[in-house]
Amino acid sequence: MAARRPTVVDSMNSGKIAAKTCTALGTARHILESYRVREVSLGSLPVSRALPVRGRRLIGPWCFLDRFGPLTFHGGKPVDVAPHPHIGLQTVTWLLDGEIVHNDSLGFEAVALPGGVNVMTAGKGIAHSEQTPADNRGRLDGVQLWVALPDAHRHMDPAFESSPQVPVIEKPGALVRVFAGSHEGTTSPCRHYSELTGLDVETHSGEETELELEPRFEHAMLLLEGDCAMDGHFMESALLYYHGPGRSSIRFRSRAGCRVLLIGGPPFPETILMWWNFVARLPGEIVQARDDWEAHVGFGEVPPYEGRRLSAPSVIRFARPNPVS
Ligand code: MN
Repeated sequence: MAARRPTVVDSMNSGKIAAKTCTALGTARHILESYRVREVSLGSLPVSRALPVRGRRLIGPWCFLDRFGPLTFHGGKPVDVAPHPHIGLQTVTWLLDGEIVHNDSLGFEAVALPGGVNVMTAGKGIAHSEQTPADNRGRLDGVQLWVALPDAHRHMDPAFESSPQVPVIEKPGALVRVFAGSHEGTTSPCRHYSELTGLDVETHSGEETELELEPRFEHAMLLLEGDCAMDGHFMESALLYYHGPGRSSIRFRSRAGCRVLLIGGPPFPETILMWWNFVARLPGEIVQARDDWEAHVGFGEVPPYEGRRLSAPSVIRFARPNPVS
């Protein structure tokens, strides 16, 4: 997260008095920035990685965003991520189409389906696998996000929650699916440990919609499907759009209909360290988690997965190996 400098606001002062007003943290100017997503692969699956981006590693507590699909397939498993560990974060899986089966070291098995959300809380440590189930419709379209856990909760026991149908807000011109946190008084059922919002905004063909935003939050938007003008600004699907705190609304307009992912939260007050699939604060915590995983200590196993689990990269490559999500 970029440091905020006090902003000089002197338009209310007379020219003779060189008084300066310093804005408080989190009430900076309205900024619109965009960041190009990176194309990476998870095994054979091409993924657009929108977070983290250089220079802005967090959007509120959201620290990771992978976009996969839309794609169709015949046979095989486009998603096949062998057991791997996480600490210090929550994973949030949101699908527009298709299905992914999750198995974890707590014994949970859950199929993510469109309209529902799966939230895995790693806390002090969990392992999971993610795969396209044998019974599938041959399509895949969705996102996986990570939420950094605040210091007070990052060592908690791991947990898994699933909501088969998240709340949907019907607005003029749009449907707003609240897959995480709260929006306009509607709250998604799965538990989070920081204030946040995670929305899938479907604007109908030929319509315009206006959403309320929490001015204390920073936000980011990613076009998932269709065409969209955001406050009159034509969105590109290869860009993540960032809005700094201080906005109270945003408008989306679409010619043919669209889906836009919108995430936000108050600027995260802690500096995090991300390495592979771990979110921590100190390098020693990363080294310990990596060694524990390699020694089969502390994370548990994921027996339903047929095949070998993933090995951690060498810490000599401390320069950020790609997460496997
Ligand atoms: Mn994972």
